Amino acid sequence: MRNKVFLFVGKIFFLCFLVCGAAGCSKQESEKKPSNVRIWMEKNGKPKVLSTTAIVDDIVGKIGGDRIDHLALIVGEMDPHSYELVKGDDEKFSYANAVFSNGLGLEHGGSLRYQIEKHSMSVVLGDEVRKKYPEEIFYFEKQVNPHIWMDVSLWEKVIPSIVETLSLLDPEGSSYYQENGKTLTKKMNEFHQSIKEEMKQVPENKRYLVTSHDAFNYFTRAYLASEEERSTGSWENRCAAPEGLAPEGQLSVSDIKNIVEYLCRYQIHVVFPESNVNKDALKKIVHVCSQKGLEVRVSKEELYGDALGDSPDDGYFSMMQHNVDVLRKEWEKK
Ligand SMILES: [Zn+2]
Repeated sequence: MRNKVFLFVGKIFFLCFLVCGAAGCSKQESEKKPSNVRIWMEKNGKPKVLSTTAIVDDIVGKIGGDRIDHLALIVGEMDPHSYELVKGDDEKFSYANAVFSNGLGLEHGGSLRYQIEKHSMSVVLGDEVRKKYPEEIFYFEKQVNPHIWMDVSLWEKVIPSIVETLSLLDPEGSSYYQENGKTLTKKMNEFHQSIKEEMKQVPENKRYLVTSHDAFNYFTRAYLASEEERSTGSWENRCAAPEGLAPEGQLSVSDIKNIVEYLCRYQIHVVFPESNVNKDALKKIVHVCSQKGLEVRVSKEELYGDALGDSPDDGYFSMMQHNVDVLRKEWEKK
């Protein structure tokens, strides 16, 4: 009898354990952090701002601060050049009060371009900069190079368009956005100068940059070239990339030949992979160089070309500083 009672009590405990355990699980599930998208979509009266890339979203967030909810469409190591919309993206566009994109041909996936063009408040930051400062925009074989964020002094020129748009969405916050824009402009000016100074520490004959694709032309013009090279246009000789403006094409024999010749001409011993681009092309080039007797290595640390990096402390600033640090470290090696 006693045994039976024990068995009965045991069963009760076991059932309680199961029920509580299950309840515990469901509680945990409900306590899971909602995704960025869910938070962004919560109705709270704040303007909902969607940006195409994480780099654009970063600068919008720095100006909008707590007064807006902002979200990036293309995150991590995704390629913004070829990005096409995935399930749920349409909804983000229809939910957004404003959409910011880089433009200048960066977002050339058809479905993405369609949504950018049809949104009622769509601000194409690169196009705004091109209208005001056409001489600052770099073209290669008549195609515009979209990577303007790589020159801090050029990227800073997108600030007025962001301040203006956010002030239209939220007029009460206008002075707040203006103040943030002013603070950010000052910080970016200082940062631009500090990158210039840091890069000057590297001997001129080392400052030749070979990366996977043409993401670093603006960087080269701003930070690697001498004043004279900038004024004559010969700064272009300081950078080369096998994959051109967008990292999606197959390499031809002549692409490889041109880069190998370039490396030999300037006696370059290191090439830099980018976080969101396959390294095979660079490895192939290094192999061909070794057959020609030129020792070239692929930098172990990658640069951030189109991506913002995994978990940068200060977004754009950390990403740019990372690039500067990697270049200096590699170029200062023998
Ligand atoms: Zn790119």
